[in-house]
Amino acid sequence: DLSGKTAVITGSNSGIGLGIAWALARAGADVVLNSFTDSDEDHAIAKDIATETGVTARYIKADMSKAEDCRQLITDAGRCDILVNNAGIQHVAPIPSFPTEKWDAIIAINLSSAFHTTAVALPMMREAGWGRVINVASAHGLTASPYKSAYIAAKHGIVGLSKTTALETAEDPITCNAICPGYVLTDIVEKQIPDTMKEYDMSREEVIKNVMLKRQPSKEFATVEQLGGTATFLCSEAGDQITGTTISVDGGWTAL
Ligand code: NAD
Repeated sequence: DLSGKTAVITGSNSGIGLGIAWALARAGADVVLNSFTDSDEDHAIAKDIATETGVTARYIKADMSKAEDCRQLITDAGRCDILVNNAGIQHVAPIPSFPTEKWDAIIAINLSSAFHTTAVALPMMREAGWGRVINVASAHGLTASPYKSAYIAAKHGIVGLSKTTALETAEDPITCNAICPGYVLTDIVEKQIPDTMKEYDMSREEVIKNVMLKRQPSKEFATVEQLGGTATFLCSEAGDQITGTTISVDGGWTAL
């Protein structure tokens, strides 16, 4: 039961972040949703979660590509018992033509944002006497594929940051782990289908079957509900001694 705890989930107006927000709210945690936009829809999502689950749910705009916004998000949340660093973007291109601004944006959003939010959240967790840092990495935090240099560098980086955070909090009642999903059919995956079709000269169906799910032995996408369940498990008492590790939710990808 997570009642009385506040969870801040970065990049949570869609996809996996939103799935994790729903799961933590269903487990009783108050939730702070986030993205870089500030639309009626963003606030409506928070309202839906509050109405459905009875927790307090807020939406706070903050751009995870900016260090100050990352830090301000945690300060504005007021409390942060569970920090889920989930915001992420993707760009697919070979290294020689990979745009520098895409490299910089991916490193900032997918990796550096977690450093900034964690820096502000850890003192709050120590003060509260309990905490969980959950970094949403990827199967690409453990293995590589061509044409995703920035994403794979950032995801390997966040696995390393997770281990360091775990060691720095090892004697506190705080844990830090990375969840490593395989393919989940969210916007980020949907958006890379056209580029991958071009890159490999394949149809949409061929890309899904022969490129994306080729590496996923289950031949099924993981779901945002399953990732919500994984995050909730890490927040349970069973997770008290699980720290500094990775949990793969990838249909067997990293067993290959
Ligand atoms: P998504 O595109 O639905 O979600 C990404 C979220 O990040 C969105 O809420 C978006 O608004 C937010 N975001 C993007 N830029 C931001 C910024 N500058 N500031 C704040 N928020 C920002 O895709 P998703 O699949 O739900 O991705 C969530 C995380 O899961 C990412 O870190 C992604 O790398 C990781 N992941 C996804 C998959 C997959 O197959 N979908 C697999 C492994 C890991």
